[in-house]
Amino acid sequence: MLSVSDAQAIILNLVQPLDNQRDIEVVNLLTADSRILATPVTSPLDFPHWDNSAMDGYAVRYEDVQHSSAEKPAVLEIVEEIPAGYQPQSTIQPGQTARIFTGALMPAGADTVVMQEKARREENRVFILDAPKPQEFVRHKACFYQAGTQLLPAGIKLNAPEIAVLAAAQCPQLAVYRRPRVAIFSTGDELVSVDQPLQAGQIVDSNQYAIAALVRQSGAEPVILGIVKDDPVALEKVITHAIAIADIVISSGGVSVGDYDYVDKILESLKAKIHIRAVQIKPGKPLTVATFPSTDAINRVSPLYFGLPGNPAAVLVTFWRFVLPAIKKLSGITEGWEPAFLKVRSHDELRSDGKNETYLWGKLHLIDGVYEFHKAGGSHSSGNLINLAQTNALAVLPVGKTLIYPQEEVQVLQLGKD
Ligand code: AMP
Ligand code: MG
Repeated sequence: MLSVSDAQAIILNLVQPLDNQRDIEVVNLLTADSRILATPVTSPLDFPHWDNSAMDGYAVRYEDVQHSSAEKPAVLEIVEEIPAGYQPQSTIQPGQTARIFTGALMPAGADTVVMQEKARREENRVFILDAPKPQEFVRHKACFYQAGTQLLPAGIKLNAPEIAVLAAAQCPQLAVYRRPRVAIFSTGDELVSVDQPLQAGQIVDSNQYAIAALVRQSGAEPVILGIVKDDPVALEKVITHAIAIADIVISSGGVSVGDYDYVDKILESLKAKIHIRAVQIKPGKPLTVATFPSTDAINRVSPLYFGLPGNPAAVLVTFWRFVLPAIKKLSGITEGWEPAFLKVRSHDELRSDGKNETYLWGKLHLIDGVYEFHKAGGSHSSGNLINLAQTNALAVLPVGKTLIYPQEEVQVLQLGKD
C-alpha cells in the first residue's frame, strides 16, 4: 500500500499553484494580513531614507574627537539642536557640534555621533569624555535597503512584520492571490444537519463543520454543498457541480469498500483519474485523491478531489496531513507546504499495530520550557470524536513502531502554527 510520504509527494505534484496574473486581487494593506503576496515588491525609497542618528547625543566630526578622554576631553561648541523630523540648517565646522536625537537627520559636516552618556554639557559647550569609533551611531542612507532592489518576494504570507515593511515603503494597496475555493460536502444516508431531530440510527454531520473550519483557517474559502445521500445520481450531480466551481473538492464518507461507498465509482464514471485509493495511515486509510479532465481548457486547471473517509478523527488527520499542504501550495505560497515535525518527549505510553503510520491525537504542554506530548484520554478509536477537543498536536508512530515508552522521544505534528 502507498506510504504516507509517497502519498504526500503524489498530492503535491498534482497541485498547480494559482496563477500570478489571473488569480490575483488588490487589497488594502489594513486587510492584507494572512494573504499571500502575488507580485514581488520593490520600493523607490532607500532605507534609511537619509543618514540619521541612532542615539540621543552629539553629531561631531570624528577628527575633532578621536583623542578625547575624561582627562583630556575635546570641547565643542553646540551650534544647533536637531530633533527627529527637522532639517538641520548648519554645516558642522571644526570645533563645532549639533545636539541630535534618535532618528534625526545628520547635519552636513558631521560623520559620527557621540552618545549623550559619554558627554557633559555646559551651556552651549559640550565636553566629549570618550573617543567614539569613526562613524559610530550613524545609520547611513540605504544601509538597510537600496531603492529599486527587491523588498519582498512573491509567494510569502503577509504577517505583521511584512505589513510593517510594506507600510514603511508606502504601499497602501497590494496584489495578493485570491483565496482558493474549496467545495465541501458530506455523504451518508445516516447523516442529518445540526438543527434536525435525530431518528434512531442517524448521526449529525459534524465533518462538514470541521472541514469548513479547517479550510477557513488555511486561508481558503469554503463553499458548503451540504449532505448528499448514498445515491449515485445525487452524488454525480453534486460532484459535477463541485468541480465546476472549486479549486479543490473535499467530500467525507463513502470511499471505503462497503456496498454504499459510491464515491470512487462516480469519479470513474466522470472520467476522473484516481491517483490514490488508500494510504498506509491510521486513521485515514481509505483516502481517494483524483483529478478531472480540465473543464475549460483556457482558464482553469483541473480541480483536485479529496475523498476523505467518513469517521471524524480520520477527517481531521487526513486534512492536516494531506489536504492542508495541498491548499498551501495552491494558494501561491512558494515554500513550507509540508507539515513540520518536532521531536518531543512523550508523557504517555503510545501504541500502534505497527502496520500503518499511526497518528495519535493529544496536547503539547510546555514544561520548564520543553514541550511534552500528552495523549488525549479516552478511546483512540476512529469512531470517537469527543476526545478530539483541545487537540494541538498529533504524535506519529512510523510503520513498524509498535510502542513508545513514557519519557521516550516521539515525532509530533504541531497543529495551528501557520
Ligand atoms: P464511511 O466512510 O461513509 O463508511 O463512514 C465511516 C463512519 O464515519 C461511519 O460511522 C459514519 O457514520 C461516520 N461519518 C460519515 N460521515 C460523517 C459526517 N459527515 N459526520 C460525522 N460522521 C460521519
Ligand atoms: Mg458512509
